[in-house]
Amino acid sequence: MIITDTHTHLYSEAFDEDRHETIERAIAANVTRFFIPAIDSTYTESMLQLEEDFPENVHLMMGLHPTHVKENYKEELAHVEEMLAKRKFVAIGEIGIDLYWDKTTLGIQQDAFRHQIKLAKKYKLPIVIHCRDAFNEIFEILEEEKDDTLFGIFHCFTGTLEQAHQAISYNMKLGIGGVVTFKNGKIDQFLNQIDLKHIVLETDSPYLAPKPYRGKRNESSYIVKVLEKIAAIYEVTEEEVAAITTENSKEIFSL
Ligand SMILES: [Zn+2]
Repeated sequence: MIITDTHTHLYSEAFDEDRHETIERAIAANVTRFFIPAIDSTYTESMLQLEEDFPENVHLMMGLHPTHVKENYKEELAHVEEMLAKRKFVAIGEIGIDLYWDKTTLGIQQDAFRHQIKLAKKYKLPIVIHCRDAFNEIFEILEEEKDDTLFGIFHCFTGTLEQAHQAISYNMKLGIGGVVTFKNGKIDQFLNQIDLKHIVLETDSPYLAPKPYRGKRNESSYIVKVLEKIAAIYEVTEEEVAAITTENSKEIFSL
């Protein structure tokens, strides 16, 4: 069985004490494919180091996270472009809009999101979307930008069934993580109405640990709890969920 974690911040300071052990633990649990979203330029070096340490397992994205879109965002976007011109990345991410932490930056968040979608099209890469309290704002931009070349993952999907259908209509897979195991997570109630071909698994570690680790530091090996829950929701085996979602991740990332 091969399990794919399509969204894990393994370079985070949260793993500074035990990064290698954490990754080995995941690999021992059959989680062997790690897709690594970027945040901003301050993490680029740690991401490159991670890839150097685990070249077979780690695949890097490049992008500017919406909560890190600040006054200096043009410089940050220039860094993203410079890195993309220099070497290969598997996606543009994570990008999007977050109105939970800061509403005052909406204008520049929209600008950064649009700009990075254009970069994804230029490099023929998928996008990995971060959306928090911003479905309408995100869908407005996807509606403008949608075409045959736009595709990707709606990371940490926590919307309604209607929003799930809408995201899928823009060629997005739904990234499902720890929230599906939460008592009040809601998505577990309708997820089986969405075909598994639209689903990928993720942890978003070190955040959003699944039950029974909720509130603790999350890590990629805990994705097994998400896998168990999805298998229960769809009434299929864990092996089948792992195989289909890994196949879906290959389709998105082309590896
Ligand atoms: Zn993330």
